Amino acid sequence: MNIQFDVVIVGAGPAGASAAYSAAKNNCSVALLEKEETVAQTVRTSGVTWIEDAKSFGIPSDYYNPIKHYTFCSPNNEVTISDTRPRAAVLDVRKTYRFLAEQAIKEGATLFVNANATSVVTDSSGKITGIKASLAKEEIVFQSRVVIDASGFQSIIAKSLGLVSQWKKFGAGAEYEATVENIDSDTWYLMVGQQYSPSGYAWIFPVGDNKVRIGVGVGKPDSSVDPTQRLDEIIEKKLGPIKKLGKITPIEFHYGLIPNDGLTRKTVYDNLMLVGDSAGYANPLVLEGIRYAIKFGRIAGKVAADAIKANDTSEKMLSKYEENWRKSISSKINSAYKVQNRWIGLSDEQWDKEIEIINELSADEFLDFIRADFGLSSIVRLAAHHPRLAVRQLFSMIKTAQKN
Ligand SMILES: Cc1cc2nc3c(=O)[nH]c(=O)nc-3n(C[C@H](O)[C@H](O)[C@H](O)COP(=O)(O)OP(=O)(O)OC[C@H]3O[C@@H](n4cnc5c(N)ncnc54)[C@H](O)[C@@H]3O)c2cc1C
Repeated sequence: MNIQFDVVIVGAGPAGASAAYSAAKNNCSVALLEKEETVAQTVRTSGVTWIEDAKSFGIPSDYYNPIKHYTFCSPNNEVTISDTRPRAAVLDVRKTYRFLAEQAIKEGATLFVNANATSVVTDSSGKITGIKASLAKEEIVFQSRVVIDASGFQSIIAKSLGLVSQWKKFGAGAEYEATVENIDSDTWYLMVGQQYSPSGYAWIFPVGDNKVRIGVGVGKPDSSVDPTQRLDEIIEKKLGPIKKLGKITPIEFHYGLIPNDGLTRKTVYDNLMLVGDSAGYANPLVLEGIRYAIKFGRIAGKVAADAIKANDTSEKMLSKYEENWRKSISSKINSAYKVQNRWIGLSDEQWDKEIEIINELSADEFLDFIRADFGLSSIVRLAAHHPRLAVRQLFSMIKTAQKN
């Protein structure tokens, strides 16, 4: 069977659903293909984002748990940055991702679940003309003018065309959503040092109603540690703040991979765009990609619609999307890599000292830092005038990365 759409999007995660929303809003016919039985059937993320972003995307406030205290634990140290109001949020991931897909459907996009995209269709000149997908054991060709690869870490479409290869550096994370006996619902914990993760960190993110997500992230190939095994060990040993949680009863297990290769990928080709984790622009400091997936997914959908309207879906026309995301976040992500490189390989003693530096930051500075929202002017100011030398040095390092 053959069906015709203006835009076909592979993957109904936050990037794909957001691209579908804006392409449909801009008068395109859109097919959104999801290989699982439902949107967000499998959760592969911890779901931390920022209230300001969630509001700007229209995500209802009862879809997330607000956070205003940020605790860092190293083997022999602990600091808490307290804000006057909550600015971070731990999302109900299923509700949020389904909400994003519903927004796309309301604008007229058609969601196909159980639709596993298997290959790309091209014409005799090699031009991309659609996607082949298996749907309830039937093979369907979705003809389209623009294909958007939003298949996440695997970048299934770009890979099948030989345009990209597997990410060399990436994060692997395992977590339990669990009920616990004690938790302050507005405090998150990031735990660093060898015992938690040799090239990453562990976390406790409260989701409300005495539920938390406890996880471990490990940088690959830097460390061979299996995050699932390490997670079970730190829970068993009740390390650090895990002890305070009391009895932990797992409800659900999550596992995922996230690219951490720098902004190495070209994300537009004739008739093809890569969005979200397929494009590889998540913030590497805290494995955070949801807000960028939504923001730039929407921009990709709009650029695709404009190109279709102009009857020109060439790489040149679609590159407005890549120009947009690069202009908006390249220097921030490059700075975040610089901080990440400093963090990977810190010894436990060095971590004990590093979190003292973090303790010198005001809540505003800390949030800009962890969000990688380093505006050049504020970084220059902090690098020159912060009252603490160690903080000045940290921001000097970021400033250098921003200029490069
Ligand atoms: C352990 C871990 C923790 C994380 N924690 C956070 C966090 O706290 N905050 C944050 O902002 N980010 C976090 N991230 C990153 C975040 O999850 C991603 O950046 C974000 O999900 C990217 O969205 P996406 O839509 O590009 O990809 P995904 O969310 O991976 O969605 C891709 C979709 O494509 C579908 N798909 C794949 N192949 C096909 C196919 N062949 N045919 C049809 N459909 C297909 C998949 O089923 C899936 O639904 C974390 C990542 C990991 C691994």
